[in-house]
Amino acid sequence: MALNVLVIGGGVAGVAAAVTARSLGASVTLVARGPGATALSSGAADFRQHPWLPQDAVDDGLRFVRGLGYAGDGNLWLLSPLGCPKRTVLAQPFIAAGDLKALPKDARPAVVALCGSQAIEARLQAKGLAKHFPKAFALPVELYVHRSDALRTIPEIAADLDQPGRRTQLTEALRRAVRASGATHLYLPTLGYAPEPIDAGVPVYEMLSAPPSVPGIRLQRALEKSIDIRGGIVERRPDGGVQIISGTSCEPLEAHAVVLATGRFIGGGIRSDDRLRETVFDLPVWAGDRQKLVPLPTEELFSQKASGRHVGLTAGLRNLEYGKVFAAGAVVGGYDQSRDEGGLVIAAVLGVRAGRAAVRFVQNVQNAQRASA
Ligand SMILES: Cc1cc2nc3c(=O)[nH]c(=O)nc-3n(C[C@H](O)[C@H](O)[C@H](O)COP(=O)(O)OP(=O)(O)OC[C@H]3O[C@@H](n4cnc5c(N)ncnc54)[C@H](O)[C@@H]3O)c2cc1C
Repeated sequence: MALNVLVIGGGVAGVAAAVTARSLGASVTLVARGPGATALSSGAADFRQHPWLPQDAVDDGLRFVRGLGYAGDGNLWLLSPLGCPKRTVLAQPFIAAGDLKALPKDARPAVVALCGSQAIEARLQAKGLAKHFPKAFALPVELYVHRSDALRTIPEIAADLDQPGRRTQLTEALRRAVRASGATHLYLPTLGYAPEPIDAGVPVYEMLSAPPSVPGIRLQRALEKSIDIRGGIVERRPDGGVQIISGTSCEPLEAHAVVLATGRFIGGGIRSDDRLRETVFDLPVWAGDRQKLVPLPTEELFSQKASGRHVGLTAGLRNLEYGKVFAAGAVVGGYDQSRDEGGLVIAAVLGVRAGRAAVRFVQNVQNAQRASA
């Protein structure tokens, strides 16, 4: 009998689950209503060990993320969009190469502004970088010189750099800027969607990105290449089964096991209405010890400081299994992705784990049916 696994969610957790279940022989249907948090991520892949994490899936989760092109020695210090160093385990290759640990203290690193509107960010980032590398500075380069170029966004620039001949022009502009400024290393806001090495006379790196994030879009594209993703919204039917809503069509779907990889607030897996809700099966959701995100006069759920503890942001499921439903990724709560408590790698680890658990569950049910027949 075919072993049907439905995966709900097309972010890193859902795709890790789907690829794992498929490799174990399952027939997998992956449905996603659109991109979630994965497509907004910065280019880094964070990970922290938690006691509840399934250790047997950690190595495979890390391998899955590396298989998507992420690289690094497990202890990277990268230039964040706010100008402070961000610690992470893996990153996309042109970002990981800019590991600040490897930069000599007397380096003269430059944060490149490719167009007028980036000059302010570049100055902010260079100011942050100068706390660790005192000679750091912001460096405008002459590539987008027309008035209409001033407000180009980073995703627009990335698409432009992928056009034939544009990378050569960028290389020439960077070389001129290096000669004039004496920069020893260049940090660029983007190298295009399909980056290639650039010979500007000094090492050229890409920075981590804030949304809309070119590295995040790159990652989402890489995931979409690894498995077919069907567009649609999965809903629970009144009889307990599920159906896929796509446009005006509504199709019931029978699955032996389901992986729930619907993300948190951004992905759409968790909502906060009169109470916290898991959106497909209405499973119980917790933020710390609360099931509601009420405004509190204390800092119990949200700290007044950005760097404080925001228990409200850890909202999610407490368990990994609910009958034939296996939860994976950010829909599982208990950790705050914005505080470096783990992000993409935890999602991948939980995805691998859920893919395996779903297949094992179906095999056990089928074995029991065979034994009793
Ligand atoms: C701005 C930002 C920056 C980040 N930066 C980093 C970083 O630097 N490093 C890091 O490690 N992590 C980072 N993260 C966190 C990381 O992106 C997430 O932890 C991770 O992507 C979660 O993956 P996921 O697959 O669980 O969820 P998501 O990527 O959110 O995917 C959820 C999927 O479920 C789908 N879905 C939801 N409900 C349904 C439904 N009913 N039917 C069908 N589909 C449904 C959505 O459409 C989506 O495809 C960042 C997050 C954000 C928001």
